[in-house]
Formats: sequence, C-alpha cells, structure tokens
Amino acid sequence: MAGGEFALIERLRSRLGTESRGVRLGIGDDAAWLDPAGRQLVATMDTLVAGRHFFPDVSPEDLAWKALAVNLSDLAAMGAEARWCLLSLALPQREEGYGAWIEAFATGWSALADRYGVTLAGGDTVATDGPLTLSVTALGLTGHGVMRRDAARPGDVIWVTGSLGDAAAALNLAFVERGHDGQAFPCSAPQRDALEARRLRPTPRLEFGATALASGVLCAVDCSDGFLADLGHILKASGVRAQVALDALPLSPELADLARTDPERLQRWPLTGGDDYELILCAAPVLSTAMQEAARTLSLRLTAVGSILPAAPDARTTVTLTWRDEPLPLPLPSTWGHVHAL
Ligand code: ADP
Ligand code: MG
Repeated sequence: MAGGEFALIERLRSRLGTESRGVRLGIGDDAAWLDPAGRQLVATMDTLVAGRHFFPDVSPEDLAWKALAVNLSDLAAMGAEARWCLLSLALPQREEGYGAWIEAFATGWSALADRYGVTLAGGDTVATDGPLTLSVTALGLTGHGVMRRDAARPGDVIWVTGSLGDAAAALNLAFVERGHDGQAFPCSAPQRDALEARRLRPTPRLEFGATALASGVLCAVDCSDGFLADLGHILKASGVRAQVALDALPLSPELADLARTDPERLQRWPLTGGDDYELILCAAPVLSTAMQEAARTLSLRLTAVGSILPAAPDARTTVTLTWRDEPLPLPLPSTWGHVHAL
C-alpha cells in the first residue's frame, strides 16, 4: 500500500507501540524482539473478516476492541498473562484513506490493551481487493502450566464466569435492524444498549483465568461459539460426559427480564448463542471455595452450572440437560444452532 502504509504504521507505533515490559525491539525493525524472561509462551491468533465476522458498518473503535478481546479471551482460557500482540491489517482501497480510521482504531484498541498492559509489538499492513480483514496474534506468559480442554475429570464442577446469551440476543437485534433474518423482540433502549455493549465489547476474563490456574484449575475453554458447543470441546477432548442445569445458566438482568416473556429464548440464547467470551472451567469440588473467593475478589459473577460425568460408551449424548430438576428432551430444535455439539 505504498506511502500510505508507512504513515499508518507510524500512527500505530506512536499510539500503541510504547515499548514496555519484555519488548527489546518493537514496531520499526524487521521483526519484534521479545523477552519472556524465562517464562513459557502461550500464543494464539484470530482473524476477522468484514461481512463475515463483523458488520462492515462497525466503528473502528469497537472493531479494534473486539479483535483484541477475542484473542485475549483465548489467553484467559489458558490462564496466561497477556503481554504482546501482532496485528495484520488488509485494507480495501478507499478514497478517503485510513488516517482517521486508524486513529479511531487505536483509541478502541488502547482502551482494552492499556487495561492489561498489552503492547503492540509488530504486524503487517497491506492493501486488498477483498473485504477488510484483520488478524491479531496475542502472546501471553505462564509460569505454572496452562488450563487445557482435555483435563476435565468425572466429579468436576462446571463453572461459568459472567453471564451468557447477551451477545446472541444483540446479534439478533442487529440482524433485524439491518434487514437480515433475525429474531426481533421488544426491548427498551437501555436494554438494547446493554446487550449491544456485550456484543461489541466483550470482556476477556484474564484476571480470573490466571487466578484459577494459580489455584490449581486444570481445565478451561473460552465461550465463543456458544456454551454447548464449547463445553462440547472439553467433553470430546477429555473423553467425558456432562450434566448441565439449564436453569442455572447465568443471565444478565437485561436478558433475564426480556426472556421472562419467552422461555424458549431464555433457554436458547445462553445455551447456543455465541460471542459471550466468558470462561467455562471444570474443577474438582475441593477447589470450589478458592474459586468463589477469587471471583468475589474480582467482583466477577461465577456460577456452578453442572458436573462432569464418566464416559458411557452406550450413551446417546454427551450432555444431559435438566430444567428445574426435570430432564429436558433431546435433541433440541435444530434451529437452535450448534446442537451438533451434543
Ligand atoms: P517488512 O517489509 O520488513 O515486513 P513492514 O513495512 O511490513 O516491514 O513493517 C515495518 C514495521 O512495522 C515492522 O516492525 C512491523 O512489525 C510493523 N508493522 C507493520 N504493520 C503493522 C501493524 N498493522 N501493526 C503493528 N505493527 C505493524
Ligand atoms: Mg511486512
């Protein structure tokens, strides 16, 4: 992208590339030189494509936040401390250029990056004939192992941070507003804004992930594709089954209020809606007090939603759902999405 590229990179460097902990050489040389200081590296990457992973009309501030947040959420699920990022930008040509866009992008990015002391250490910037595409690589550090998907054991309690389903509800509203297929529902402006904030600016649970790992929790996943789908990854990797009390899944006050008039939604969005970026953790009951204490210290909601069961080769499903202590019939309606994970 010729001359324009260097101006954009310089803006990113001056806004986001402040050299800090462990950055020996940041933006400006051929590659970043990072110093993990004897700790272990945890690396992840996520790519977002306009029209596929975000609405092309999203603000650059929100886009930057989300691109970073989804990566930090992966580090949180491992229990790692977030430290550095690399950013690849593929920008479609446009008349007005990207000067103002990159400033706004940097504002949204730093709003999240500064909170966790994450430095932008490098990246790549190119022009594309395709849609706007960003890839973020996030690098974190760990001193005592990681939380893994294959470490759930029978008897473990299944925990969920925060609340589930807000982003899915907001996405339905966003689809309807843009004339696409989606499920409209009546809601007030403050309710809509609260749900939309969860969709646009998810909070990666980095502090809790690191604390859980330090407390001895061995198994976690971040909830990006929907609770059932992501719990399904744990069950498959660990070779176990689970029992989940659907009525225990944590809802925000807004969603609980909206869903009161429609119990089907109350079940569907928290269970199969994606983009929550909460953590699902499996931990031996002996760790319950420590986990609840850690959550209290962080003012983070933490809810026990079920338990891990031993594998049963003849079982028809890997998840047994209950609703107010009654078994819920399976399979769930196919319109719920992601039910294949069962
Ligand atoms: P090279 O030709 O060696 O790949 P570039 O011109 O692509 O170098 O990049 C110059 C410097 O700017 C490098 O340090 C690179 O990491 C950084 N950089 C380029 N694009 C970005 C970006 N989108 N975000 C952060 N750093 C970037
Ligand atoms: Mg390059």
